Amino acid sequence: MSLQDKITILKGIGPGKSAAFNKLNIESVEDFLFFYPRDYEDRRELRKINSLTDGDTALVKGKLVLMARGRGRIPRKQTLKLFVQDETGAMEVVFFHAGFLERTLKQNENYIFYGKISVNLGRIQMLHPDVSRFDPDQEQSILPIYPLTGGISQGEMRKWQRAALEFLPELEEYLPEQTLRRNRLCGIRYAIENIHYPSDRKRLMEAKYRLIFEELLFLQTGLLAIKRRMTSKGEGICFSPAVSMDEFTESLPYALTGAQKRVLSEINADMESVRIMNRLVQGDVGSGKTVIAAAAMYKAVKSGFQAVLMAPTELLARQHFDGLKPIFRRFGIKVGFLSGSLPQKEKKEIQLQIENGDLDIIIGTHAVIQPGVQFAGLGLVITDEQHRFGVNQRAILSQKGQNPDVLVMTATPIPRTLAVILYGDLDISVIDEMPPGRQQIITRAVKSEGREASYEFVRREVKNGRQAYVVAPLIEDSENLDARSALGLYDELKERFQVFSVAFLHGAMKQADKDRIMQEFNDGLIQILISTVVIEVGINVPNATVMLVENAERFGLAQLHQLRGRVGRGEEQSYCILISEGGSKVAEERAEIMRSTTDGFLIAEKDLELRGPGEFFGMRQHGMPELKLADLAKHVKILSTVREEAEQLLNDDEFLSGKDSIKLREKIDKIFHDTESLNI
Ligand code: ADP
Ligand code: MG
Repeated sequence: MSLQDKITILKGIGPGKSAAFNKLNIESVEDFLFFYPRDYEDRRELRKINSLTDGDTALVKGKLVLMARGRGRIPRKQTLKLFVQDETGAMEVVFFHAGFLERTLKQNENYIFYGKISVNLGRIQMLHPDVSRFDPDQEQSILPIYPLTGGISQGEMRKWQRAALEFLPELEEYLPEQTLRRNRLCGIRYAIENIHYPSDRKRLMEAKYRLIFEELLFLQTGLLAIKRRMTSKGEGICFSPAVSMDEFTESLPYALTGAQKRVLSEINADMESVRIMNRLVQGDVGSGKTVIAAAAMYKAVKSGFQAVLMAPTELLARQHFDGLKPIFRRFGIKVGFLSGSLPQKEKKEIQLQIENGDLDIIIGTHAVIQPGVQFAGLGLVITDEQHRFGVNQRAILSQKGQNPDVLVMTATPIPRTLAVILYGDLDISVIDEMPPGRQQIITRAVKSEGREASYEFVRREVKNGRQAYVVAPLIEDSENLDARSALGLYDELKERFQVFSVAFLHGAMKQADKDRIMQEFNDGLIQILISTVVIEVGINVPNATVMLVENAERFGLAQLHQLRGRVGRGEEQSYCILISEGGSKVAEERAEIMRSTTDGFLIAEKDLELRGPGEFFGMRQHGMPELKLADLAKHVKILSTVREEAEQLLNDDEFLSGKDSIKLREKIDKIFHDTESLNI
């Protein structure tokens, strides 16, 4: 019997159930022990129906008197209503999907319901509660509520978790003794036992605190270690003070804004100093970050080094390449393009040119961090729209040179609390001023009733010679999701706008096709471009004046802000139309925020409030481990304690290789392993 045993070692789990467990990422008994409840049912507090008031979250025992399906065309989406009684009164229990519940519940049996109460004109309702069969033998205690997946019931989950807890004595502590003592954390066995079956609230809190602490500690220690590796490896490059960025910026057809000048002088100082530059440039969509990157690359190249600019999508990398190449040509600087979709032969060719120094600047996608790519003398590394890249990817890229300077650019403003975790003490520059003459984009939020008028508006604009984007959340229609698809819209709009040229673009298309379509849109040959969010970052077509977003409720605010930034890039008044379905309160709130402000920082903060950091950042995209209990927005206080602890650990034992901390290191390595080994 070992913790590494497959989950099937628990009695009653066969191949079918084990597949369901795998869906929850549970393979071994150990995985299962670390699968935490999402909430608890306090059975010590059973409530009587006549004592329930609006807004309560309550546990009620009652008899199921009657079951009925609600209305709805699609059976799968019909609601299920239960009428439940106890000795004091009756209530209605509503489930959003009838699903398999209908088959498992039986009339005249007693059940325990746990959920939120709403009382309306004397009618008591409980919405979508957790439900389990009442078992008179079960003691009145605090019971875990697990996230479920098809095929495993709450009861089974509880029963098997109890069985898994038998293995607990084998679980060894992995946090250093000192860490536990300094932060008064409980031991791991105590924590796991009480996160599942706490005998009282106090124990539950102790368990939670320890587990939240360790999650944040893994994350913070791992990130700090990467950062130390990136900044403490000695001296950086001193780029030549004799090369002035002004030579470059003076050749541009416009004058830099004050903010651009300030940021460039910060970068210039970093580049000339012996310290390795590690700087983040935050600037709203359209604030002019590309030229900042270009000026820095100019300085690097004229000082005798190569520079690389990595963008998250092929489309964006191409646009940078097409835009910058002619500018640099005037200075005799050679620019190359590298992406995964180039023909093998061409790729080899470019790689060779990078390796023997024939190219000064390389612009590309993730292809530039592949092992085959060797630089002759890489001095400056820039990532654009950096929120799309993992910390590790940034590290890999900078390892391709001898302590190159690093610049990361983002249009996603990052609230301070999070910036501290993600970047440690990375220096931050903010471009807080827009180039002159930028117009205010008019934003309209409409419900589906406004759809017809919106498309007629698109027609008027296009008739007047403008172009429009139409964005949908899906590529194709989906059975499971009630949302518009780009393909569906394409068919519909081709029909509607027969006199216009309408095209369709999505991320999974072949590169050559994407390029051709973007080029044609750019040249005005395509008037209405329908797409998924591939056009989200960085694309620049000044004649496009309408951004129409379907199912806007399915996009994050930061995403909508990025999409809106695609228009208003030319002289003409531009518009952003957000069509939302449904009309939940949150959706309305979001639409109102989009209407009332164009401040990217404000929008980002709201987005964070409304969606939480996990979604906001796409932690996964960062190559970051998923947080199960910890919440970066909620646990700021714990985080600062954790940060001190992480610093202390790395100060005491830089590589965490001593016998006290080696187990912690193994944990961190394993967690970060998904992307690239952390290799502290
Ligand atoms: P982003 O910060 O979103 O990457 P870009 O670098 O793509 O913005 O710049 C948007 C547009 O503004 C480009 O067409 C660029 O040429 C132009 N631009 C940048 N700086 C200035 C400036 N100081 N004055 C006028 N136009 C500018
Ligand atoms: Mg940009």
